[in-house]
Amino acid sequence: MPKVVSRSAVSSSTDAQPTASSSAALRVYYCLCGEFILVVDKSLASLPKRQTDGATVLRCHDSDAGKARVFKLNATPKDAVLVERLGGHEKQYRFHCPRCDLQIGYQSTPPPAKSGPYLYIVKGALSQIQGQVPPDAFADENLVRS
Ligand SMILES: [Zn+2]
Repeated sequence: MPKVVSRSAVSSSTDAQPTASSSAALRVYYCLCGEFILVVDKSLASLPKRQTDGATVLRCHDSDAGKARVFKLNATPKDAVLVERLGGHEKQYRFHCPRCDLQIGYQSTPPPAKSGPYLYIVKGALSQIQGQVPPDAFADENLVRS
């Protein structure tokens, strides 16, 4: 059973940041096609990025390292893929936009979303404004090879 993230959960983590944000500050993100994809309790821009590919890291469960983000992902899980990384391979279970099939994010464990410790949002995949391309969408175009 995936852990149920409760908004009333109290974290005892030592690095919990004092913040005024609450459920009133939920951010909504859209795919480039305009489809609603993600609602999250913190701005993606303010969340840590993965060094490997610049993906935004969403912590799925409370741990000693930090508090889980409260978020809901509206995306379609796809088959796992193996991605080549420096010194090995990484298995990614990907999530795609239900409307245009663009890849939105991935995690290292099988669906459903949040079954693993982290869920990653692909850099430049989402916009806070419906129908607008995010400014970093093409920032690392040289990295997007297939
Ligand atoms: Zn889409």
